[in-house]
Amino acid sequence: MIIILDKKDCVGCGACANRCPKQCIAMKEDSEGFVYPNIDKEMCINCGLCERVCPVINLPKHREVQSVYACYNRDEKVRMNSSSGGCFSLLADYTLKQNGYVVGAAFDTDLSVHHILINTVEDLALLRGSKYLQSRMGNIYSLVQEVLEKGELILFSGTPCQVAGLKTFLGREYDNLFAVDLVCHGVPSPKVYREKLSEVEEKIGEKVVNVNFRDKTSGWNGFNLIFAGEKKLVKEVKQESSYMQAFLKNISVRPSCSVCRYNNEHSSADLTIADYWGVETKFPELSDNKGVTVVLVNTVKGDRLFDQVKKNAAVWKSDFTHAAQHNFAMKNIGALHPARKEFFARLGTENMDILVPELIKKFKNDK
Ligand SMILES: Cc1cc2nc3c(=O)[nH]c(=O)nc-3n(C[C@H](O)[C@H](O)[C@H](O)COP(=O)(O)OP(=O)(O)OC[C@H]3O[C@@H](n4cnc5c(N)ncnc54)[C@H](O)[C@@H]3O)c2cc1C
Ligand code: SF4
Ligand code: SF4
Ligand code: SF4
Repeated sequence: MIIILDKKDCVGCGACANRCPKQCIAMKEDSEGFVYPNIDKEMCINCGLCERVCPVINLPKHREVQSVYACYNRDEKVRMNSSSGGCFSLLADYTLKQNGYVVGAAFDTDLSVHHILINTVEDLALLRGSKYLQSRMGNIYSLVQEVLEKGELILFSGTPCQVAGLKTFLGREYDNLFAVDLVCHGVPSPKVYREKLSEVEEKIGEKVVNVNFRDKTSGWNGFNLIFAGEKKLVKEVKQESSYMQAFLKNISVRPSCSVCRYNNEHSSADLTIADYWGVETKFPELSDNKGVTVVLVNTVKGDRLFDQVKKNAAVWKSDFTHAAQHNFAMKNIGALHPARKEFFARLGTENMDILVPELIKKFKNDK
């Protein structure tokens, strides 16, 4: 039976809960809003299956990145609605057109975020774009296994630890499974996100019905966050958004992100996608500020898949050193911010727009 002594040792993937034959593991939020397994010890039969599928107990192996590309989707609308260059949509669209399934993070009607499985091109928009909070996995791993066992093609997308969790959950390779992960420096707490939504709702006097974490109307580099009601909206510039600053400075992220064992050369995915920040320093023709995805090819299978989508994409061959030059998380793991503890202690009692800058300033001065 899984016992978590240090919160850094659980990524919240839910592989254990998906695997438990007695269904005695529930994923429950802690006081910070991150999910951890909660085991009903009365029901547990000590079979050890939860430990066998845990990606923290069974760490992925080191693997060299095989090749690196700069890529954008030639469909302008899709590119503009994507976080980077819209390459995820190219991979997903190709899979759906092969009658396959795609799994990824989507907003629910209450604007929470969880992983879903789709099989129509119309539903692809639900998965498009980054949602900056930890996505709930529910029973998605079990569902993926069921579909794979029927011989159907699946493209699974998620953070590197979610892909690692899928791989340990499945316990064997499937030829009909392709996995794509993201370069990921951390995931914010769903509780912080809910708090942000309620602060915005108080400000605009109505329910938020739409969230966009990567609005590109001011360009890809200086993107905005948009929280929209039916009549009013709040638009925050990335650098000035308290939500985004708490995320980027590792104030609101999960403890396990400070010891991440799944990024880049420890990825379990066939392909890894990320923002190609600084792309124009190598390819000046890509300086239109509309977004470029960097694609890391990790496996032969990934190479095969990317080859299929290249014809609908604008693609340039690059290299890891250049791609990582302006992308911190491609080579580094960020420590948790010293203000993190105080932030969570005061969350919910003080407005985030005041609290976050105050804490950032305070801990800068304390250094
Ligand atoms: C939490 C998080 C942190 C990230 N950190 C970095 C970073 O530090 N550096 C960097 O270069 N890029 C980072 N990215 C990736 C980047 O934001 C883009 O998602 C990526 O460049 C692909 O863009 P795209 O235009 O090709 O496709 P998009 O359409 O923008 O990508 C959509 C994909 O993101 C997945 N996704 C969206 N939200 C989530 C979520 N909450 N959990 C799991 N999967 C999700 C979808 O399932 C889909 O596969 C991060 C993404 C997320 C979600
Ligand atoms: S040991 Fe077996 S029964 Fe007990 S929680 Fe783990 S998977 Fe479930
Ligand atoms: S399987 Fe995932 S959720 Fe369960 S303990 Fe391991 S990391 Fe945590
Ligand atoms: S930083 Fe690592 S542990 Fe945290 S969400 Fe991303 S992949 Fe998972």
